[in-house]
Amino acid sequence: MVARIPSYCPDCGTALTTVEREGRSRKRCASCDRIVYRNPVPGAGVVVVDGDRVLLVRRRIDPGVGKWCDSGGHLEVDEPPAVAAARELEEETGLAVDAAALTLVDAVAMEPWGEKHVVSMGYAVRRSETTGRLSPGTDADAARFVGRDDLSELEFAFDYVADRVERALALFE
Ligand SMILES: [Zn+2]
Repeated sequence: MVARIPSYCPDCGTALTTVEREGRSRKRCASCDRIVYRNPVPGAGVVVVDGDRVLLVRRRIDPGVGKWCDSGGHLEVDEPPAVAAARELEEETGLAVDAAALTLVDAVAMEPWGEKHVVSMGYAVRRSETTGRLSPGTDADAARFVGRDDLSELEFAFDYVADRVERALALFE
């Protein structure tokens, strides 16, 4: 399984051909006699809620460099989504949280970035469940709590962010 459109078989290196299967264009290895499926990459993020404020980060890298979103990133291969969301939160903001304290608020197919498709699972948690001092980490150049009334002043990095933030705020009203 690969995220981008593959040109060669990941097992034997043979150039793949395009075939129609299940109403979709698929890549097939004639040597291995198999379809090389292409699937979205899973990601997870978390919105920390403090009253009517939410924790957002400004992205240091593309896609969406310089724009704002919830902290998050890709799952490691053996990592449950909530554990990934908690790990990314600490890496990007300095705040630590137990994955068991996170509540799932959405799961969205993000707009594709080139050939890459990501499905992102969104979590929410109260700030009182977190520990540590706020400090932006490696993939973020800013991390701060933003008031509900100030959200419209920010440019979000992804389409899903506004709805995820509203779901997180509504969860703890
Ligand atoms: Zn092959």
